[in-house]
Parts: sequence; structure tokens; C-alpha cells
Amino acid sequence: MVDNLWDAAEATRRADAAGDDPADRALALHLYGSQLIGGNPALVQHGGGNTSCKVTRVDVFGVARTVLHVKGSGHDLASIGAGGMPGVWLDNLLKLRDLKKLSDEDMVNASRANMLDSSGPTPSVETLLHAFLPHAAVNHTHATAMLALANLPNAANVAADIFGNRIAVVPFAMPGFSLAKTAAEIYETNPQVEGLLLLQHGHFAFAPEAKAAYDLIITHTNMVEDWLAKTSGKKLRPAKTPRPEMQAKAADILPLLRGIIGNRHAAFAGNPDAPMPVMDLRCGDNVAEFLARPDLDDLATRGVATPDHVIRTKRTPLVLGTNVLAGGRDAISRAVDDFIGDYTAYFAQGAAMSTGAKTMLDPAPNLAWIEGVGVVGIGASAKTAAVAGDLAEQNIAAMSNGQDCGGFHPVEARLLFEMEYWSLEQAKLGRSIPPEFSGRVVMITGGAGAIGLATAQAFAALGADIFLIDRDGSALETARASLGPHHGALALDITEPDAATRATAACATRFGGLDILVSNAGAAWTGEMATLDDAALRQSFELNFFAHQSFAKSAASILESQGRGGQILFNISKQAVNPGRGFGAYGIPKAATMFLLRQLALELGPKGVRVNGVNADRIRSGLLDADFVTQRAKARGVDESTYMAGNLLGREVEARHVADAFVTLARSQRTTAHVMTVDGGNIEAALR
Ligand code: ZN
Repeated sequence: MVDNLWDAAEATRRADAAGDDPADRALALHLYGSQLIGGNPALVQHGGGNTSCKVTRVDVFGVARTVLHVKGSGHDLASIGAGGMPGVWLDNLLKLRDLKKLSDEDMVNASRANMLDSSGPTPSVETLLHAFLPHAAVNHTHATAMLALANLPNAANVAADIFGNRIAVVPFAMPGFSLAKTAAEIYETNPQVEGLLLLQHGHFAFAPEAKAAYDLIITHTNMVEDWLAKTSGKKLRPAKTPRPEMQAKAADILPLLRGIIGNRHAAFAGNPDAPMPVMDLRCGDNVAEFLARPDLDDLATRGVATPDHVIRTKRTPLVLGTNVLAGGRDAISRAVDDFIGDYTAYFAQGAAMSTGAKTMLDPAPNLAWIEGVGVVGIGASAKTAAVAGDLAEQNIAAMSNGQDCGGFHPVEARLLFEMEYWSLEQAKLGRSIPPEFSGRVVMITGGAGAIGLATAQAFAALGADIFLIDRDGSALETARASLGPHHGALALDITEPDAATRATAACATRFGGLDILVSNAGAAWTGEMATLDDAALRQSFELNFFAHQSFAKSAASILESQGRGGQILFNISKQAVNPGRGFGAYGIPKAATMFLLRQLALELGPKGVRVNGVNADRIRSGLLDADFVTQRAKARGVDESTYMAGNLLGREVEARHVADAFVTLARSQRTTAHVMTVDGGNIEAALR
């Protein structure tokens, strides 16, 4: 069931906060209802769906006119505010209805030309549908249950059984002018209805005010959920909690698939250094039950439950059955090539039948259904992969619910092509340049510490997807949250024997693979060598040498499975070349790590893996904390800031400067076996 979350007190609070103008108060209530709709993924997902309200405002000539506030494109209902609901003078939109034809470009231009605020976002492509309905509050969703209903072969009959004459049925038309006209005509012949079922598309509900329109969305959706559950006898929402056995398989399969698709991306882009895609795995009971269906291969050819999903997921998924997986890399490569061949043919056919020149999008899959592993969203970043994954989960729910209740028959390929290659979408191509590290997965040990977190922030700011490792679980959560959404983390002690394999497997499960390991974690043990306890030295070697080696080894293994190069970056220390009294237990394993860097650079270079490191000194961190700074400054007889700036430049070196060095090494495409010094200048520690 979909819960009705409208809270009368909250609604009053919002209306009051909007002031005295009835138009602003109505808009505030409408925004509240829209956010409630947007906040429920069973109703809409990722910018899907749209809502509107009609209010009266006075124009610059002092004339009171009706304004349609409608969702702006690029806005998400979940977080929508007044700025995302541009106002359009309704009278001029209504005049468009007399036209026989109106191109999408002209329609968008007409809406923009009639906006109250010309700097606002472009009104939704479904604006005219909202405009042509007379109700003050109109909501449109792509609810999962409604999509199952809308794609049934006998959807109109079933809708009549469920709703009687409360809902009218609109045959499929592409969103835009003709759909708006058809929907309005159907409404006008059935003026008693509370809503519309748009076949193979979604649901509209309307009322004189925001709450009633919201209530109808919930009521109608639940009526369909009841019917689906009763008809199929199945649970509509199986658990989404990931199954560990599927995650474990994913850790092996995804890097292989990521590398193969990465090769195809590089070939398509004509750029051998093009980033690989990032993946988002779904492997709960909902997915496991779906992948076990006997009609899976057939369902994979059908298409998407509502047309705009095609832009994020493509029309069909890549399907990898156990027989393909058993064939390893070669068989998976062939399956990917078959997919690309089919997609290219679909493009050629669609382009030949449509008007205007079309540019083929990257033909590699945006979605994979992998038996025993899960459903995988594939995108240029963790964010886009997550969107594909969310839509995929909604699609498989709509598909299986529909199929179990009579059939799943979405709109045919030719029309989906029109949506995927819609002129307004094509016009966006090549307009945005992705950030420099977009599509790069960076795993950082000691990720909650000063240098680790600064490094994570520096890479994340350049578009990378980050996987943090740290021993301290709560500090780790805080660190991950500080990076924003879509980053990963795992709490573990990196000196445990299986830590590195667990960490890289978790990173592969989370993002599909790894591009850059920043092996950063370290800690200092002190004491003069002549009297040092062996156990302390061995402990230091575990963390300051063996953990670097085991993480490098695991990273090398995943990079090899991807087969597209990669990088390993070590945080070494000036101690590796310039010993400090009492720091032998720290410096000696670090010296070994510096040699490890060279050894790995030598051995991994032919595989395209670059290995570099940073020698930093005197950075405020867990290793050099406030007490330690006080103590060292006192020992030198200087104040703390003089101590911290005790280098050739006379400036304190901060964690962000070390982070800069890691980023610089990561972008230096022809540099390997290099150690960069970040210490403000110290001739005794200079490498060359
Ligand atoms: Zn829609």
C-alpha cells in the first residue's frame, strides 16, 4: 500500500509561511503535495512525473489572469520548491489548442515565451496536458502499480473493472501537443472522472485543490495495488536487502564486465583513455525472484514500462545467463558485442523512419540483468548508474506484476526510439563536459583521517566516486556523509589478513570495479632502534608496509580483471629517505614501501598500471596531533606555528596540499615510479 502522508498541521504551516496572497498559499500547498508524491519511489522516480496548479495573479498591466504553475524540466518533485514551478500565463497556452500541429520546439518556445519570470526553468513537456485540463490541481505520476496496469493487453477493461467511471483511458501518444489534445478531448467527453490512465505511460489525477488531488493519486494507486495483489496472489514488494551470495558473485563478475564495456566506450569515443562506466548493483529478493522467472529472456525484449525511462536505461537490458557467465571473459565480450550490434540495428532502423538527422548514442548497455548476480545500473558516474538501477527495479516490478496479471506490453520499439532520440534530447548532446575524474572509482585507506579525507574531497570535487576504508566506523560514516551522496565506505582494520581482499571486493560490489587505489593509512611507532621492542617494529611493518603490499596486490588483481590499466598511489613519508631520531620503527617500513612502489611500477607498467607516491612531512593529522605539535615545538624551543612552518618556504603544509599531490599524480598520464615530495622544502629529504 502507498501511504497517504498529508499532514493537516504541516499543510497549514506551509500555507501560512507563504503569506496572505491566495495564489502563493495555493502554490505552497501544491508544492507540499508534490514533494510528498516525489518522496515516494512507488509513485515517481528521478524527475519523472509532474504536477501543476492554476492560480490568479495580476500582470504588469494590472489585469488579473490565470497562471499555470507547472514543474520545470530538470527539477525533481521530491525536492521541488517555488523556483522549480515556473508560472505560465494560461490564456496564451489555451490558444494553442486550436492549432492542428505544433512541433516540440515550437511548443517549448511558446511555453517559455509566456512565462512570468523569463529566467525560470523550461516548463515540463507535459505542460499543455496540464493547461488543457480545467482543474486547479493536477498531478501526474508513473506509479509502479499504474505502470503494471497501463501495460496490460486489456488495460482499458481492467481499468473499467477497478474504477468504474472514475477514470478515463487515454491511448498512447508521445508526450507533447498531440497527447495533450487527445487527453483533453477524452476528459471533456467524461467530465465526471477524477483522473486519466495513460496507456503504456502513467496516471493523472485532478481536483479543485492540492489536498484532494494528492488524495486521489494515493487512492487510485492503492486501488490498482489491491487489484494486482488479488489477481496475482503475490506480494507486490519483495525485500530489497542485498543478498550476500549475489554480492559475492558480483565482486568477480562486475570488474570483468566493466572492463569489457569500458573498451567498447573507448572505441566508440575514439579515446583510449575514456573512463569506464560505474555500476550500481541491485540484488534483493525482488531482483532474485525476478531473475529466476522462466520468461526472463522474453521479458528482456519487451521494452520499458513508461517511455521516458528509455533515456536512462535504453530499451532493453544486456542479459547474462549462467551459460554466458560460465564462458568467462570471451563469452561476456560476445554478449556485449551482440547487444551493441542489436542496438546499432535498432538505431539504424529508427533513424531511417524518423525525420531529421539523428546522432547515435553510445550503443553499450545501460542496464544488465545477470543471473545469480543481480540487476545492474550502468552509467557515467555512480549517480547516473543509481538512477538506471532505480528505474530498473521499478521496471522489473511493473513487468512481473503486469505479466502475472495478464501480460506486459509496453510501447513498441519504433515509438521508444522517438523518445530516446527526441529532438530536444538530441539537442542536449555534447553540451556538457563531464568533470575530469567522472567515472573514476577511487579507494582510499585511512579515509576518515586528515590526509585521507582531504584526498577524498579533492577527487570527489573532480567528479570521482569514492570508496573510503577506515578502522573507525563512526568517523568513517561522518567522512562519507561529508562527501555527499553516492560514495561508498567500509570499516575494517587493514592489517587483518583478509582486509585487502574484502575491501576491494566491497568496492567492486559497490561501483563495479576500481580505478585508483590511494594506499594512505599509516601510524607511527617511536623508539630508538638499539632498544626498540621487536613487537612494535613488527606491528609497524604490518601497517606501514604489509598493508600497502596487500592492498596493492588486491588492487592489481581487480585492475587486471578490468584490463584497462589503473593506478596505485602510496602515502610514503619523508622518513623513508631522511630518518628522524626515534622514528626508525616508522621510517624503515616506509622505506620498504617506497621500494615496493618502484618494484610494482616495474612489474605493473606493462599492464598499463601506474604506481606513484607522495612523501609528505609535518602535516597536522592523527599521526601529528595537537599534543604532539606542542611537544615538538617545545623541544625545538619555538612556537607551534614556527614549528609547523619549519621548511624552506616558511609556510605550513596542510592535508589539502598532500591531496593536491595525489590528484596531480593521478592526472599525470605518463608518470610512473615517481615520488612527489610535499614538505614545503627540505633539502635533506629531497629525492633528486
Ligand atoms: Zn509522464
